Amino acid sequence: MSQLRFRVVESAFEKQAAEPVAPAERPSAYYGELVFNREKMFKYLPGSAYRRLVDSIDNGTPLDRETADAVASGMKKWAMEKGATHYTHWFHPLTEGTAEKHDAFIEQDGKGGVLEEFDGKLLIQQEPDASSFPNGGIRNTFEARGYSAWDPSSPAFIVGDTLCVPTVFIAYTGESLDYKAPLLKALEAVNKAAVDVCHYFNPEVRKVCAYLGWEQEYFLVDEGLYAARPDLLMTGRTLIGHESAKNQQLEDHYFGAIPTRVMAFMKELEVEALRLGIPVKTRHNEVAPNQFELAPIFEECNLANDHNLLIMALMRKISRKHGFRVLLHEKPFKGVNGSGKHNNWSLGTDTGVLLMAPGKTPEENLRFVAFAVNVLKAVYTHNALLKASIASATNAHRLGANEAPPAIISCFLGAQLSRVLEHLENRDAEDFNLAGKQGMKLGIARIPELLIDNTDRNRTSPFAFTGNRFEFRAVGSSANCAAAMLVLNAAVADQLRQFKAEVDARIAAGKETFAAIIEVIRADIKACEAVHFDGNGYSEDWKAEAARRGLDCETSVPLIFDAYLRESSVRMFESTGVMTRKELEARNEVKWEMYTKKIQIEARVLGELAMNQIIPTAIKYQSSLIDNVYKTRALFPADKAARLSAKNMEIIEEIANRTIFIKEKVDEMVEARKIANRIGSEREKAIAYHDRIVPLMEAIRYPIDKLERIVDDRLWTLPKYRELLFIR
Ligand code: ADP
Ligand code: MG
Repeated sequence: MSQLRFRVVESAFEKQAAEPVAPAERPSAYYGELVFNREKMFKYLPGSAYRRLVDSIDNGTPLDRETADAVASGMKKWAMEKGATHYTHWFHPLTEGTAEKHDAFIEQDGKGGVLEEFDGKLLIQQEPDASSFPNGGIRNTFEARGYSAWDPSSPAFIVGDTLCVPTVFIAYTGESLDYKAPLLKALEAVNKAAVDVCHYFNPEVRKVCAYLGWEQEYFLVDEGLYAARPDLLMTGRTLIGHESAKNQQLEDHYFGAIPTRVMAFMKELEVEALRLGIPVKTRHNEVAPNQFELAPIFEECNLANDHNLLIMALMRKISRKHGFRVLLHEKPFKGVNGSGKHNNWSLGTDTGVLLMAPGKTPEENLRFVAFAVNVLKAVYTHNALLKASIASATNAHRLGANEAPPAIISCFLGAQLSRVLEHLENRDAEDFNLAGKQGMKLGIARIPELLIDNTDRNRTSPFAFTGNRFEFRAVGSSANCAAAMLVLNAAVADQLRQFKAEVDARIAAGKETFAAIIEVIRADIKACEAVHFDGNGYSEDWKAEAARRGLDCETSVPLIFDAYLRESSVRMFESTGVMTRKELEARNEVKWEMYTKKIQIEARVLGELAMNQIIPTAIKYQSSLIDNVYKTRALFPADKAARLSAKNMEIIEEIANRTIFIKEKVDEMVEARKIANRIGSEREKAIAYHDRIVPLMEAIRYPIDKLERIVDDRLWTLPKYRELLFIR
């Protein structure tokens, strides 16, 4: 996350752009070539199947088996022409990342041979042997019954020799076991609720779509060095390591040229992404050394999320071809900025209107203000839940670490929108006329169309209005965006429904529509004042102020997860049809369990590093010093020897003290783990790991980082920060 956000168009770029590009190499020539998009559907499907499929994608109408068979057959033909031999249902289990099980197209033909087979049944539904995916106890392991079901709204694509069919993953009893199923439900809920509110302004709106534009930050490290760091290999972050003398102080990386090897990686990544129909657009260095960002043009939320998951997989794969490993962890290096994934979010209608952008007429601006205030209110009501949606063992290192907003959700509106809301709240709105003088007084008649790139920016806010969208910035770089997006869309859907109920009640009581809307907005602005904060989110004052305002200030990740099970959250999820109490309870079990496991692995790796590498290395160096002291004594008279050895004696003692301390703390940590592991409740166990193990890990790291500075560099077995961060 950067505070300085200059987009550096670097000279090498300009040079490349100036060179003519052969037509076949232009992105337009290969964009989407690996996607079964509408163009291919049209080409490979019979007319009726094409029409039914498009109707299903656009309007959610269910597909009959006959259409599914026709689609499967067309898809198979296209995929085989592209060299695919296998197919897979691609889904997003509650772990991070994606899962897939590949099956060949072949079936026995009954005559001793095989033929290529892929029918509607295989397209629609598959039963992966899924007992080992986390499910929080919904599906008993011995039953192992879960199935993946086709999501026609996200097009199939080819990776390598495999046709990938995006799917939801659900239990036989109907509960979601993944991120996609509840996300789709939340998108449907916000569509319905927003269409209803749009009808106050335009009865012709039939559909409201949620958009997502993510900005993916990441680090690259040399693969050889990565392999020599067991902590990076096993946990994705460095558990130890002293800051290097030069870091990001000079901010020269942000302004710097992209190194050649990195550029080669980026180019290949972009070509592969474009072939998969991911409209990647922006690439640049980030603030920290070896940190970069990639962002596409925003897309429909479900598709954008699939694309983000695909990009993360592509990054892992392609980085290795260039001798790198990509780090998607939120905080791979201490003392260096971490990585986030801004989620730019907005709603748009099928009539072509962005609902989070000001318009030209007073009516359009009332609509804009109505939607903005509804978002604000949703963020206020569910601020604890939104924080829970981005909380994880890994993102915990980033939030509140003085480079990212604290673990408090507030909303930045900027000077212009703030002024509009202030006017609305404070002026007398009786007997108003939108277009006339009253409209002027209310501040909504003329809202300057904000120039997106000129909007005043506040990089310290976790949730910010940026001209035509809101930017949820607290999302972690390794996260599945769906976790945050399903909560945000569901919360906004629920809020819009309440808003409509209140407006309708006033209309029923005889109020004019716009007057009713303004009345409700004014009450809402007042009600959610606490969440609106345009100041410096990094400041200590804000933490105290936020607590006074009643915003959720919990910092312990296992306790932050409790927000999912608050009555207000359960009611919101159930009334929008996004998740049931049972699902929420099961998913929290998974969250706590994942938290525990991550810390457990880190603690084990740290213990091993301390005992197998740090202490032996330090003692080896110490022995050479002791040897030197002894020999000094043999060579010189006692007085002189004592004086000459004094500094070495200090180091010998320091090493002794630090290694003793490390060993004691490692033992303590092992004991603490044993106690924690005996706890039955996943929640309590996660709390124990947070309260007992994490502080011990910090305690162990400190003397190790000190030792790194005094021990002979030639003996130190682990690559240091200066190598990891600066060698390309
Ligand atoms: P910045 O780093 O200044 O925030 P970028 O241009 O890097 O901005 O990225 C902004 C992201 O927001 C891009 O993915 C862009 O497509 C997306 N975006 C722009 N407008 C909207 C919108 N109305 N709704 C959702 N996403 C949007
Ligand atoms: Mg941004």
